[in-house]
Amino acid sequence: MRKIPLSSSHLGVQELTFITKAINNNELTKGENLEGFEADLELYLKEDRYVAALSSGTAAIHLALLQLGVTLNDEVICQTFTFCGSSNPIAYQGATPVFVDSEPETWNMCPNHLETAIKDRISKGVKPKAIIIVHLYGMPSKIDELLEVAAKYKIPVVEDAAEALGSTYKGRQCGTFGDFSILSFNGNKIITTSGGGAMVCNTEEDKKQTIFYATQARDNAPHYEHSKIGYNYRMSNISAGIGRGQMEVLDKHIGLRRDMNAFYVNLFKGIKGVEVQKQPNSDFYSNFWLSCILIHKDAPFTKAQFQSAMEAANIETRPLWKPMHMQPVFEGALYFGDKLSEALFNKGLCLPSGSNLEQKDLDRITKVVKDLL
Ligand SMILES: *Cc1c(COP(=O)(O)O)cnc(C)c1O
Repeated sequence: MRKIPLSSSHLGVQELTFITKAINNNELTKGENLEGFEADLELYLKEDRYVAALSSGTAAIHLALLQLGVTLNDEVICQTFTFCGSSNPIAYQGATPVFVDSEPETWNMCPNHLETAIKDRISKGVKPKAIIIVHLYGMPSKIDELLEVAAKYKIPVVEDAAEALGSTYKGRQCGTFGDFSILSFNGNKIITTSGGGAMVCNTEEDKKQTIFYATQARDNAPHYEHSKIGYNYRMSNISAGIGRGQMEVLDKHIGLRRDMNAFYVNLFKGIKGVEVQKQPNSDFYSNFWLSCILIHKDAPFTKAQFQSAMEAANIETRPLWKPMHMQPVFEGALYFGDKLSEALFNKGLCLPSGSNLEQKDLDRITKVVKDLL
């Protein structure tokens, strides 16, 4: 039996055309795919944003923090319920993370806990340098409330939309709300460039500066002149070619992921104690990159039973992200919240959510659930 994966890349038909052209023109590193992919993303996101394509989403967060002036011993607030790509760049800059827990409706950063954290840090004489908000699993966070708190204390926001390309909040694309916003095109994301990411900037100047830092910070001189430390973070023209092809199928694939979510809502309908993650109201439009469930105490099966039944049928499931404040590498880090993310981690699972699953895959998943009952 074929393994049913959580989320795998799903190619369209044009990727090969874009790559082949780059190879035929001997433009592997720079070239028209790079500019073309950035233009595609700018068109898609709207709001007059400027996009710089980079080697990963993590690299984008790193350059966002760098450009916001985050440096040694600064504090940066970060959603604790996330993937390490959100928080590791804080450490790259020698800064200290302050983790903030989630609220139950979107599973993303709680505006109240955020304000508590900011007030506490200011009262100790350290004003946080930046706030990293995340739209986990594609679900938009409570953006208005979070931005209001950030604005009240005049702290810039890095918006981690790595999982949320195509999700919208009050009709506006995720990835357009931050002082800097980031996207990821890693192999398991909603679209892929094999590996890659992007910085979404509010000004052309920010985009230029992002590319400057992503290409080893070369000053304007005939020789190699450097007055800043730079990084090798630019996306290649080959990767961007895959991205251009993927942009053509993005909306279709979002539709299919949303269909997967509807499939789970239907599958678990009427099963007490099993809760499928849902959009709080019509302000929140999720790409449902991954469909997630919580298995509560009153469910007819335990999380472990469900996991092992799925595993026996060669169907992948995965626990929700383990919160960063619980990770050994961030032991002792400051944390504000009421442990909601810990409860989500204990009860939750991600289910196969790919846009390329077939009816026979859905039938296999259905059978596991029916057999368990
Ligand atoms: C994937 C991901 C990243 C990092 O992206 P990469 O391209 O893998 O470096 C950051 N944050 C979140 C929430 C992610 O899911």
